[in-house]
Amino acid sequence: MTAPTLLGRASAAVAAAAVDLVRAVVPVECAGCGRVDIPLCAECAAAFDDPVVEVGDAPGRLDVEGEALMPVWAVAWLDGPVHETVAAWKDAGRRDLDRWARAWMRRLAHEAADALPLRSGLVVVPIPSRSRGRGADLPGVLAHGAVEGLADAGVEAAVRACLRIGRGESRTAGQRARTRGATVTAVGGVGPGPAILIDDVVTSGATLRAAREACEQSGTPVLGAMVLAAAPPLGSRADVGLQ
Ligand SMILES: [Zn+2]
Repeated sequence: MTAPTLLGRASAAVAAAAVDLVRAVVPVECAGCGRVDIPLCAECAAAFDDPVVEVGDAPGRLDVEGEALMPVWAVAWLDGPVHETVAAWKDAGRRDLDRWARAWMRRLAHEAADALPLRSGLVVVPIPSRSRGRGADLPGVLAHGAVEGLADAGVEAAVRACLRIGRGESRTAGQRARTRGATVTAVGGVGPGPAILIDDVVTSGATLRAAREACEQSGTPVLGAMVLAAAPPLGSRADVGLQ
């Protein structure tokens, strides 16, 4: 066995290790179904292509005596590959999905824009995530996608990241509203508005409700909310009667 062969084998081993390392660092499986060597397969991506769902009046959500508090538009129901993909993006550090998330929210805002009562002066207000990764501004990604989608529909809007979320009392001056275990605070005012709230997922609607309250206490009315995915109501099939 010659030295060059040994070196060659060593190089191959290093190269293989490098590939393994890259695979460990760079996601190479579908966020929705685990299919290898693709960040998001066509089938799982297509789960985000259904018509936008309006979930604000779904049972047990943001309703007050049967009246929806505000419209909530979602790209998709939080189910199947959508659930897996959103979890990978939100909780597993799959920042390579940012561009997808931004594009999905852009489409949502474009489609939902028809329902808005005005065409300019909107503020798009992301709700900070309590579980976001270090340095990751996932709500900001969604908010910028929403502004792009509104612009596609001829609606002028700007991102205003003025909400803070945390436990207990905030020492920051501003308007705050309480939800279960959390405080939502509008720091420095929301702006003239009106506002569209942005969140990644809506489940009980408690956070959206608190964020709405914080905005309105600051004098900014809230037209509705746009979210990436909505948890299907308990006891309901997501595909029956709720779209
Ligand atoms: Zn897939």
